Amino acid sequence: MSTVHPVTAGASEQEQTGAGPLAWEQELNPWLAAEARFNLAAGRLGMDEGLQKVLRTPARELTVYIPVMLDDGRIEVFTGYRVQHSIARGPAKGGVRYAPDVTLEEVRALSSWMTWKCAVANIPFGGGKGGVICDPAVLSQSELERITRRYTADILEFIGPEKDIPAPDMNTNEQVMAWMMDTYSMHNRQTTTAVVTGKPLDLGGSRGRREATGRGCMIAALEALKRFGLEPGQTRVVVQGFGNVGGMAAVLMARAGFKIVCVIEYDGAVYNAGGLDIGALMEHRRETGSITGFAGGEDMDRQEALYLPCEVLLPAAKENVITSRTAPKLNCRILLEGANGPTTAPADEILAEKGVFVVPDILANAGGVTVSYFEWVQDRMGYFWSEQVVNDRLTEMMVAGFDSVMQYAQAHGVHNRTAAYMLALDRVAFAIKLRGLYA
Ligand code: NAD
Repeated sequence: MSTVHPVTAGASEQEQTGAGPLAWEQELNPWLAAEARFNLAAGRLGMDEGLQKVLRTPARELTVYIPVMLDDGRIEVFTGYRVQHSIARGPAKGGVRYAPDVTLEEVRALSSWMTWKCAVANIPFGGGKGGVICDPAVLSQSELERITRRYTADILEFIGPEKDIPAPDMNTNEQVMAWMMDTYSMHNRQTTTAVVTGKPLDLGGSRGRREATGRGCMIAALEALKRFGLEPGQTRVVVQGFGNVGGMAAVLMARAGFKIVCVIEYDGAVYNAGGLDIGALMEHRRETGSITGFAGGEDMDRQEALYLPCEVLLPAAKENVITSRTAPKLNCRILLEGANGPTTAPADEILAEKGVFVVPDILANAGGVTVSYFEWVQDRMGYFWSEQVVNDRLTEMMVAGFDSVMQYAQAHGVHNRTAAYMLALDRVAFAIKLRGLYA
């Protein structure tokens, strides 16, 4: 059932630190990106080689083949994965994504990211991730339900509130989590809401979860501004991706007084030097299906929009947006990484040379997993908090995470991303040392 992955070889030490000319495919490879950051942080910590081996190797990987009857009576077999990178600090935690191009390597990389993110947020979880190779765009709701239920049944022994807690990710949502929770509960003959997070409110979901990642970005932005002596009213923000993370961050940041001067989507960008009316822009998109043609701003080229002068650039769409090709042209002071992996390892070096203050993804977008943790706590308590309590506790944890990363950056003389990884590696390694190796 379990397989140990081969430790990725190939990139030279110089390349792994992002200083050298990585081949383009290597630059975009998520596992190599995770390795590059890991190597840099482990090196700066002077971490023991053996401990490094433990930390870079996933604890468990499961591949399942999911036979499902389609609506037209044909049988199809889908491939699904669940990887638990680490359970050193607590049960594994991480989303499940449905996409035609999911690979085990990608799931593996994302599961290690979850370990580091949970450690930076200082929540008692390890890291996990799951995926099913399928195209939700061509599947009916009932086909999706059957895939979800059979996938859940096939990974049943792997997951559980004390073992591994899945959540939504790309192309999965509250409904998929409700099916997973129900399948797990039916097999165990007891309703177990804490087995997944990101559930509907009526099934043990948490207030504030939907807004949590965007809210976390806003909190991190406010903390970053303090380092520059800037007020939100003096702060121009460019947001890429107007979905759950970017859309919510834009709403909350606009409410806090930031000037959202540009929003970039896959089909265009809209600009207003005086600040966009985000509520009106959302309404416009709801009506027309696009942010373009908005009366409260002017359309502009989406690539050029990324290079607009601004105080905060918030990439909140997808991975590999800030690369060795785009980073030299950025004109932001703060790069707030709402998306997972928006910046490649070689781009890190360029940003450092340009003096861009990076709030790395494992810190900036940790609001989501933090409120997922709150959801799990509330499910286990059977007592649900008000939205205000959720938001206050989220603020407290985001600020604490931000301060810890800044302290590491200062104490070790490193950039913020390396500091975040050093903090995470330190915390996970400490847990492993305390627990010892069971043999
Ligand atoms: P989403 O699908 O709700 O939103 C993404 C948005 O980006 C969509 O509106 C999409 O049209 C747009 N987009 C896609 N490609 C684009 C491109 N090339 N240029 C501009 N816009 C583009 O997804 P989301 O949940 O907001 O997630 C966004 C990112 O944040 C992902 O990297 C995700 O892994 C990460 N993230 C999400 C959460 C969460 O709680 N949702 C938590 C942590 C990290």
